[in-house]
Amino acid sequence: MTVSTGKAISPDSGVHWAEPGAWQVDEGIHRIPLPLPMDGLKAVNVYAVETPSGLTLMDGGWAVPEARDALELGLKQIGAAVGDITDVLVTHVHRDHYTLASVLAGEVGAKIALGAPEKATLDIVASGEHGSTQRLLRTAGAQRLLADWGAILPPAPDPTHWRTPDVWLEGDMRVEVGERAIDAIHTPGHTQGHYVYADQAAGLLFAGDHVLPTITPSVGFEPAAVASPLSDFLASLTKMRSLPDLRLLPAHGPIAPSVHARVDELLEHHEHRLALSLDAITGGPRTAYEVAGDLPWTRHEHRFDTLDVFNGTLAALETLAHLDVLVSRGLAVRKSPTPGQGDEGDTFTAI
Ligand SMILES: [Zn+2]
Repeated sequence: MTVSTGKAISPDSGVHWAEPGAWQVDEGIHRIPLPLPMDGLKAVNVYAVETPSGLTLMDGGWAVPEARDALELGLKQIGAAVGDITDVLVTHVHRDHYTLASVLAGEVGAKIALGAPEKATLDIVASGEHGSTQRLLRTAGAQRLLADWGAILPPAPDPTHWRTPDVWLEGDMRVEVGERAIDAIHTPGHTQGHYVYADQAAGLLFAGDHVLPTITPSVGFEPAAVASPLSDFLASLTKMRSLPDLRLLPAHGPIAPSVHARVDELLEHHEHRLALSLDAITGGPRTAYEVAGDLPWTRHEHRFDTLDVFNGTLAALETLAHLDVLVSRGLAVRKSPTPGQGDEGDTFTAI
C-alpha cells in the first residue's frame, strides 16, 4: 500500500486528483477521492477531519460499492475505519454527496447535517417522484429531451440512501468540529440548500460544488421548483468574495490556492454566457432549447446536439436559467405559450 499521509499533493505533483487514497491537506485533514459511476466528473472528494472523538467527514460520497471500498482504503491509510465517523457535514443533497452519508448514518450512527432548503428536494427524491425537471424541460422547449429523460430516471429510490438528516442547517451558523470552529455558510445556486464550510483559522474552504476549480457547477438542476437559480448562484459567488480569501477544497477536482481567483473566473464565465445568450435572442423569439443549440458546451466546447441526455438536460435547464437572468435585468422579455395553443415552450426576445 502506498503510504500517502503527510504528503500534501500539489496540482503539479503528477498524481491525478482522483487517485484513490488519503491525501493530507492540512494538519488532521485528509482528502479522500471516491469514484463515481457513469459520470464524467471521475470522483467526488470527501474530506476526513480528525477530532478528539473520531472523524467528521465533509460530504459523504455516492453509495456505490466502489466508493465504499475507496473510503475504507483511504481511512485505513490514516489508521481509521468507518466506525470512527461521528458526523458528516454534507454540502448538498445530490446523490454523489449525500447517499453514502445516509448509509453511514444508518450503519455507524454518524450524524448528518444538511441545509434546510434541501428538504423539498429530499422529500421528492426519497418518495420517488419526478419533481420539476420534466416541467422545466417543457418550459425550455426541450420536448425532444423529454421522452429520453423519462427513460433514464432511476428506479424506485433506496430508502437507506435518503434518510432524514439529524441536523437541518438554517442561515449562516457556527458548527463545532472538534476544536475547530467551522462557519456553515448558505450558498444557494447549485442547489437551494447548498452550504460551504469555512475553517477560517486554518484558511480552508470546503466548497462542495459551489466553487469548482476546473469546471463550472451546473445551475438550475434540482427537482424542487426554484424561481431564479442563476441569480441565487451569482449572489452566492459574490458572498464568497466578501469573505477573506481561503484555500479551495472542492468536491470535484484538485485543491486550488485561492477561492477568490476562481470565483472571479466563474463570475466572468457567466457574464460571457449571458452575453452569448442575449446575442442569440436578438431578433427572437427563441426558446431556451434553441438558444442552447447556439452555445458551446463544456470547456471542450461541445455542440449541444452531441451531449448525452443527462448533460443535454443540464444544458437546456442552465440556458433557461441564463435567459431568466436576462429578463430580471430588464434586457429581455419572456412569453409563455397561450394555454391550449401548443406546447412549444416559453420564448425569449432581447429588448
Ligand atoms: Zn457533485
